[in-house]
Amino acid sequence: MGLTIWIGNLAGVSSDITDELRTNLQTLFAGIASGNNSFDTVKIITASDSISSKDLLCYIVSGFGNSVVKNFDSTVNGDGTAGNTSFRTGATSTAASEVYLDVITDTSDDLALGLSKLIFHELMHNKATMGNELHTKGGGGLAAETILETTARSQGNVNFMKARLANPVVQWQGGFSKP
Ligand SMILES: [Zn+2]
Repeated sequence: MGLTIWIGNLAGVSSDITDELRTNLQTLFAGIASGNNSFDTVKIITASDSISSKDLLCYIVSGFGNSVVKNFDSTVNGDGTAGNTSFRTGATSTAASEVYLDVITDTSDDLALGLSKLIFHELMHNKATMGNELHTKGGGGLAAETILETTARSQGNVNFMKARLANPVVQWQGGFSKP
């Protein structure tokens, strides 16, 4: 079994964008997921699913006002403007990631590319269960505090994620619950 990246498309992003997003994420995770954690697929979903603690999940919500991560009972809360990851550490950590479609639409010429870069950033916070220290310890590139669609993935990002990919982190699926 390889790694699956799950995208909770709560914002209803159209399939032409999510098709491109899927390809972009596969490119960003290429060379990171290999061997026992080989990279399999990106799945776009709108309801909870069989997401393992070796997988990764990021929600796309329409804006900060529609945050689902704010409903997660976390011990460390993200404070990003384009996306957030909050988590709870313990014997097995649990993490919740989301990105804000309105902010990324405003700052990207290529929405699918902008989304993929931000999602990669949030999933770095998620897999490392690391707050703002990621911005200085994550190898520059897509670990930086501010991410644009033009920001490139660095070799440091690859090394950082490769070293952590096998660590189990439960992916919070409460964002799919209807209020
Ligand atoms: Zn960040």
